Amino acid sequence: MGSALIYIDGEFFPKEQAKISVYDHGVLYGDGIYEGIRAYAGSVFQLSEHLDRLYRSARSIRLAIPVEKPDMVDLVLETLRRNELRDAYIRLIVTRGVGPISPDPRTCPRASIIIITEPLDPVHGADATTRGLRAVIVSTRRDAIDATSHEIKSLNYMNSLLARMEATVAGADEAIVLDPRGFVCESPICNLFIVQGERLATPAVSSGILHGITRSHVMTLGREMGMAVEERDITPYELINADEVFLTGTHAEIVPVVMINGIAIGSGAVGAHTGALIQSYQRITRDPRYGIGIDQ
Ligand code: PMP
Repeated sequence: MGSALIYIDGEFFPKEQAKISVYDHGVLYGDGIYEGIRAYAGSVFQLSEHLDRLYRSARSIRLAIPVEKPDMVDLVLETLRRNELRDAYIRLIVTRGVGPISPDPRTCPRASIIIITEPLDPVHGADATTRGLRAVIVSTRRDAIDATSHEIKSLNYMNSLLARMEATVAGADEAIVLDPRGFVCESPICNLFIVQGERLATPAVSSGILHGITRSHVMTLGREMGMAVEERDITPYELINADEVFLTGTHAEIVPVVMINGIAIGSGAVGAHTGALIQSYQRITRDPRYGIGIDQ
């Protein structure tokens, strides 16, 4: 296959020619939204749920997406077909569009839609699931729910990037971000869970987390495995003293964290509950009932 084809506003461009205006407010102000989606074995996992979240993000920032949801499904599938991809990472972006240099969103007449599809690379490296990650709690706090909350999946990821850079400087694999009150929130691009005995806990949406789609599957799978599942405030002390800690996200799936701030979590190896959840989650991602077929 030749160069990857990128969808922009009704046309497909080879990767090298896929360009947008420097006057797009997505570039000038981070004014826009996105979704990260995955296709497994010819089926786009949870595509409807991702589009529901995209349109909720759009509503929250008063952005009119110039395409209805069913047509957006077709555009995603068509981009995958044109790129001959069956297993892929899909980045769907809607920017505010082109306008004058001043930041008033009303001056941008039409939002732009961009769809990038790529073969997959593991986010945290090929052996992250078996080795586990070393994380640090960083000083950058999650943006408040009444500020640039990550409940809106916007193009403004500076808060996450600052956290990520702190982890890199500390020599760790990943950052853990606290909410403005000091409770555990999430990692830059993943939700977080702790296991305490037979209990599974994850920060509530009141911590300013993204309403993660993987997170909601993991809560269901935990209940099916007989665990008590709680959405609640988690202190850094509870995090460090948990039996198991793991991160969840569409791209990363479920990734164990085996050390935080230099302290081993539980035995310091990947825990049994995390391992079982990884297996169950892998099963549903490959179950076509949870997705929309690329060739439908
Ligand atoms: N939190 C943040 C800030 C994210 O960017 C992501 C990845 N989209 C997640 C959590 C995980 O969400 P999901 O499981 O829906 O991919």
